[in-house]
Amino acid sequence: MYQSSGSVQEEDQCCEPPSTQGAAVATLNPPTTHTKQRPKVSSLLRQCGSTASEWNDWKWQIRQRIRTLEQLALYLPNLNIQPLANVIRKYPMAITPYYASLVRTPDVSDPIFKMCVPQIDELNNPACLSEDPLEENADMPVPGLVHRYPDRALLIATTTCASYCRHCTRKRVAGTRECLISARRLQQVIEYLTAHPEICDVIVSGGDPLTMPTNVIDAVLSGLRSVKSVQIIRIGTRVPVVLPMRITDELIKVLRKHHPLWINTHFNHPSELTPESAAACAKLVDAGIPLGNQTVLLRGVNDSHKIIEQLCRGLVRMRVRPYYLYQCDLVRGVEHFRTPLSRGIEIMEYLRGRVSGIAIPNFVVDAPHGGGKIPVTPNYVVTVSPTHTVLRNYEGLLVNYPEPGCGNSPCEEVKPEQSACGELAESAGVWELAGGQASVIQPADTNRCRRRQSIMEKRKKMTKLDSSFLFDL
Ligand code: SF4
Repeated sequence: MYQSSGSVQEEDQCCEPPSTQGAAVATLNPPTTHTKQRPKVSSLLRQCGSTASEWNDWKWQIRQRIRTLEQLALYLPNLNIQPLANVIRKYPMAITPYYASLVRTPDVSDPIFKMCVPQIDELNNPACLSEDPLEENADMPVPGLVHRYPDRALLIATTTCASYCRHCTRKRVAGTRECLISARRLQQVIEYLTAHPEICDVIVSGGDPLTMPTNVIDAVLSGLRSVKSVQIIRIGTRVPVVLPMRITDELIKVLRKHHPLWINTHFNHPSELTPESAAACAKLVDAGIPLGNQTVLLRGVNDSHKIIEQLCRGLVRMRVRPYYLYQCDLVRGVEHFRTPLSRGIEIMEYLRGRVSGIAIPNFVVDAPHGGGKIPVTPNYVVTVSPTHTVLRNYEGLLVNYPEPGCGNSPCEEVKPEQSACGELAESAGVWELAGGQASVIQPADTNRCRRRQSIMEKRKKMTKLDSSFLFDL
């Protein structure tokens, strides 16, 4: 296995991440009170007995993770920890002090609390759930390498994460033993990729690959880069969310060597968009690494159109492109996080038209039985005919799109002003749109309609000179 020195052992076994080896986990003296506001870091520092430089040291944060119920109880004295022993025996707990500092209310009404503090509900397992619903294990030609799509593969490079998300889709592996990929395993991966030149895109995942020592990250990326057919490398990480101080200059220097490199982060809630996480993302983007974000739709955390809107707008401000909004997988231990599929469709219905396309993620279901990601959208195609497709927009406007070669249809006669505010609506129906006898059915009283009317009224009052200036500009 890789050691922090970069030397390689041949055995394929698990270990603590080198950054924590030999380090006694000190008792964290936690805050004794919680306010609605995020506790000031200076007050947390005092209570942890740590210095600012320790707080900003990612290895210190890893060493000081809350890993036991006793540590958790110090942080959250009102929490009944007794029933949680069975939960963390099955699904380990780790929370970085930084991420714990984002909890504002110490109960499940708090989104951060819900995502990181174990809950008894994790032991509720209806029959439809399984440990590996995406059947990743069945698609592993080499242990740790998932080859599902023709041109892509996913490498589970570690089972360690900075914080263990209670909603994790890989609960079967994340944190059960904290392991790094071995040199022997990496070699097998390289050999497989070399033998399959159709794979041009490799996603390094885990666990969280950015919890690995920097020299190991370098070794893994170098190994993948040594395969000529691998064009793109992507890293999936929640480090900018739960351990932003991990994005060090040293790490950036290593990542820069392996372009083209893309990173997908995992922000789920606007409370995670902190100055620290924004700084971490800025460092990555400034290093030329495009950032995308994968959000999981979680009941009681972010299953609201307003929260997702706020999250997506905030991400774009941080130069992170919202990429996927995932329906929760059918994973054992996450039933209490699942939302109806209709919730995600409602959210997408709300976003489209109100928010710039750059801030709208694709809502996807990662299909059970290894079916891969299936996009799920509101239905925008109302009907089709050989000559026209009838579409609807977010306002409920129905419009036809003429197929090539139907340029002589009556819709060509419609002037833009006519289609502004429902003037054709009375005699037209979907049938007429599909046949090309009408081109639009417009709801009568939308904001856009009112805006258009006022523009037209203003234009009528304009002199020719005014309006020519308007168009020249
Ligand atoms: S960081 Fe990713 S792999 Fe780790 S627990 Fe969270 S969701 Fe799972």
